[in-house]
Amino acid sequence: MKAVYNPCVSTAQPSRSALFPRSFTKAYPQAVRGEGVWLYDAAGKKYLDFCGSAVVNFIGHGVKEVAGAMASQAANLEYVHGSQFVTDVAEQFAREVLDFAGENFRGGAVFFTSGGSEAVETALKLARQYQVEIGQTKRHRILSRHQSYHGATLGAMAVSGNLLRREIYLPMLRDSTKVNSPYPYRCPYHCTDQCDKCGHKLAQELDEALNSCHGEAAAFIFEPVSGATLGAVAPPNGYLRDLAGIAKRHGILLISDEVMTGFGRTGRNFCYEHWSKGDWAPDIICAAKGIASGYAPLGAVIANAKVVDAIANGTGSLVHGFTYSAHPTALAAGRAVLRIIREKDLVLAATSDRRGYSDERLKDSKETAGHKMRTGLRTLSDLPHVGDVRGIGLLWAVEFVSDKYARTPLAPEKKFSAAVANACMKRGVIVYPMQGSVDGISGDHMLVSPPAVITTGEIDWGVSQLREAIEEVSRSS
Ligand code: PLP
Repeated sequence: MKAVYNPCVSTAQPSRSALFPRSFTKAYPQAVRGEGVWLYDAAGKKYLDFCGSAVVNFIGHGVKEVAGAMASQAANLEYVHGSQFVTDVAEQFAREVLDFAGENFRGGAVFFTSGGSEAVETALKLARQYQVEIGQTKRHRILSRHQSYHGATLGAMAVSGNLLRREIYLPMLRDSTKVNSPYPYRCPYHCTDQCDKCGHKLAQELDEALNSCHGEAAAFIFEPVSGATLGAVAPPNGYLRDLAGIAKRHGILLISDEVMTGFGRTGRNFCYEHWSKGDWAPDIICAAKGIASGYAPLGAVIANAKVVDAIANGTGSLVHGFTYSAHPTALAAGRAVLRIIREKDLVLAATSDRRGYSDERLKDSKETAGHKMRTGLRTLSDLPHVGDVRGIGLLWAVEFVSDKYARTPLAPEKKFSAAVANACMKRGVIVYPMQGSVDGISGDHMLVSPPAVITTGEIDWGVSQLREAIEEVSRSS
């Protein structure tokens, strides 16, 4: 007889964990300790954190100075609510973050959150309120790009283009206009020169989309280098500058989502700087992940003076806030992390566009970690299933194909990238597998983005394990 489901009767296995896991079908090792680029599980096995967990850790694990700063803040003042108090740690850190963001953000302000999705939600609402404050009350639409990821909350997901993560929630999501993302390996215009001349055409898509918005657009949000969904795709030259010009002409704000790319990950303080000579900048930057390197849940929205002035001189308060905005203990972690990024010159360590350090303090290092990753990962290009190796700084992706000459994606049901990640894990290397880069469903790639303190020897070892893992999966698929 067929069993009838009764919600009052638990069918849980007696042995099942009380923890709601990321997947009920996967067995996870228990992590107990981290040190530098290494993680250790309860069985004593060690793993090279070759992807900063999820492109989070930038300064290395187990840094006692950060733990000490958090403990001392928590012992002194763990928390207050932003409607009642400001704190010294929040004032100081906001100033330091603005300083890190540079000249374009002078006179601006920082709104702290507990992560990337909250930062994006804040930025979307801030853009809307900015438009209302300056009398543009019709402006409420946020434009974005296909194949993007901006977060897990419903607002952030509405502007995200990640099909697999959106699919079952589509009926709950607000419709949003999206334009193509640059993707030189699979150019939307089928060019043959790695999108050398596609930047202008791609940016024009935004112009056209804005023309059809009838003055209702408030902002455009983009990842300067595509993160997990497309896998470390850098834009063609001129594209971002063109976008900035178009945004300005149409009276909309430009939001650079640097949750994955900010705080040094790509070898600049913020990633957009690679394509700006100070002549343009976004109005708002969203940051998270690297800002506290995983030591605390922390995010930030960095707004320029134009945006902040509109609210400060208008209604005087942002109609938005979280209980844990500007949490003192999380901010103490952020301050300590930023101090380490500066003291150890980790942004320089992440650069992939120069070979040796010119800085006197780093004279013993022969090659930056970013450059070593570039050369190391590119050696994988000879493997039959490796179609593309791309990235910048310490944010890299390897895209897998079944036929590298035709660039044919692997059948999605093979779950090739997940199998490679499993084979890596077996060997003690952690990478970040993704699917859907081609059309949201097919297309296998994985992110490789270690902490900036990784040594050249550790990169060599990680790449050799990756090679073996890819070979093993290729043999069986
Ligand atoms: N924006 C980008 C570009 C991201 O990569 C992510 C997460 O991966 C998010 C937003 C969401 O951040 P979080 O997972 O911290 O909420």
